[in-house]
Amino acid sequence: MSFLQRTHACGDLRAAHESQTVILNGWAHRVRDLGGLFFVDFRDRTGIVQLVFPLSRPGGEGGRGERAGDMANIRSEACLSVSGTVRMRNESTRNPKMATGDIEVEIESFSVLSPAKILPFPVSDEDQMLGVNEELRIKHRYLDIRRPKMYRTLALRAAVIRKIRAFLDERDFLEIETPIITRSTPEGARDYLVPYRIEPGKFYALPQSPQQYKQLLMVAGCERYYQIAKCFRDESQRADRQPEFTQLDLEMSFVHQEDVLSLSEDLLRQVCNEVIAEFGLPLDPIEPFARLSYDEAIHLYGCDKPDLRFGLQLFDITDEVRESEFSVFRTTAEKGGLIRGVRYPGGSGLSRKDIGELETLAKEFGAKGMATLSVEDSGEATAPESGYVSAGGLSVKGSIAKFFKPAELEAIVKKSRAEAGDLLLLIADEYMAGNNVLFRLRNEIGDRCGLRDKRKLNFCWILDFPLVEWDEATQTWSPSHHPFTAPKDEDLLYIDSDPGRIRADCYDVVCNGTEMASGSIRIHRSDVQAKIFTLLGIDPATQQERFGHILEAFQYGAPPHGGIAPGIDRLVMVLLDEENIREVMAFPKIGQGYDPLMDAPSTIDEAQWAELGLALRPAKP
Ligand code: ASP
Repeated sequence: MSFLQRTHACGDLRAAHESQTVILNGWAHRVRDLGGLFFVDFRDRTGIVQLVFPLSRPGGEGGRGERAGDMANIRSEACLSVSGTVRMRNESTRNPKMATGDIEVEIESFSVLSPAKILPFPVSDEDQMLGVNEELRIKHRYLDIRRPKMYRTLALRAAVIRKIRAFLDERDFLEIETPIITRSTPEGARDYLVPYRIEPGKFYALPQSPQQYKQLLMVAGCERYYQIAKCFRDESQRADRQPEFTQLDLEMSFVHQEDVLSLSEDLLRQVCNEVIAEFGLPLDPIEPFARLSYDEAIHLYGCDKPDLRFGLQLFDITDEVRESEFSVFRTTAEKGGLIRGVRYPGGSGLSRKDIGELETLAKEFGAKGMATLSVEDSGEATAPESGYVSAGGLSVKGSIAKFFKPAELEAIVKKSRAEAGDLLLLIADEYMAGNNVLFRLRNEIGDRCGLRDKRKLNFCWILDFPLVEWDEATQTWSPSHHPFTAPKDEDLLYIDSDPGRIRADCYDVVCNGTEMASGSIRIHRSDVQAKIFTLLGIDPATQQERFGHILEAFQYGAPPHGGIAPGIDRLVMVLLDEENIREVMAFPKIGQGYDPLMDAPSTIDEAQWAELGLALRPAKP
């Protein structure tokens, strides 16, 4: 089809183009027929400009007839080529909200390159789009992406990747692709499998990450590798998870942990700061990353993904209340449990009903129960008989206050650093069980008190993770990260006696309470790797069968190495303050991995079953 190709982009037109004849290619974003005048907001990927079709005006050669004939096809989202002259708008009709709002293009001729039928949703109306069913949007993603908001997201995502490449290329990293159909690389999820036609019963696995290949590239002497890597994990879906997602996967040889930390912190800060500036995002520049050990993070915030935009560190009052008359606390302490809590600033003003709702929430988070104490100015204390007026002039109230001696209440106030107006939420349980509730309550309080400042991306490092965790279900040790993570040299002595005590040279990047990256220094010696496999319950024959290649590779002069893999989808999510990973992917899946656009997964035909040597097992009766 021949058509006039654009001379200009819609979003670039300004007053400086006045009187110029321009040709534009794009889509009719919004169409307004005002009797004698016909206006079209015309869009291409760069922006929107107003076209005016003055029907009474004679067109160019053949122009008038064309206009008259095809005008009916200028409907929302029809694809057009138009030619016209840039004119200044009247003062009164200028639109300061549009970059091109000072001008319009008076159309002399146009052709409809492709008409559009009525759309399943109005791509030009962001307010209405908020109410559109997500599955419908994803089924018609090619229309959804016509929305300027979606296009900007993809442009920002591309900018993130481009800047990552520029940063690493400048530092002599080599971008290397690794296979997609391969063998299992464990990262804690189920594999996606691909049947091997030649030998029925054999399967490739899609990589959960390129972990083993990147380590083999270090053995191969590449020293500095990266890849914008697709990873595939069959696990339950969440707002920040998809069956396939993208990581910046990188690995370096002859490095210590500090080298990987400083390179990746520089990279993340530079990329984010550049993108914030380029896209005018409403975010403060990224500060240097705070550092916390895993133990500190758990102790202070109850989890290894703390949101550090606000303080509210957890407190522990076990020693203060172990002799108290409140039996729940006393017996928990006697059994080795802890009584820990979190402050709710301003929470002393909550009604009984509000507090009841918080208790329900705590139970949803897994608490057996929750006790509260409210702290007020003693001057305002309404029922002095049920509270204690401390030396600092504070009064403590609450249904459990009567069980504590004045000195105990004073100690609780001190330990919790409570201030007048606070509500103390107290959980009595085993250390980790209590933490699991308290970190969620802390985030809830952060939300309710408006402490999660939208302008801040607060990155931190979590260091020194335990190498392994005890898995009650399987009664085995499982890796906290993956089985290739190096134990700290000084902790290796616990390998037989107390494996849970071994810390790893393993690190996470967390931003605003979300895990953004994981990495570690790796094992590079075959004997140590075999020992760790054994600790993980993998017997020598299975080690050979599943990991023989890496155990052998480590016997040919493997260099010390380490790396990290930041999640690119999650990075784009936090930059754009999107709560759902699907919003930052061109073609995401919904539900349990369904692609409504391609209708995948799909059935295969009889011939393919036969060719692959596969059959469905009969369903269990
Ligand atoms: N392969 C790891 C992951 O996907 C990252 C790494 O250790 O570099 O989490």
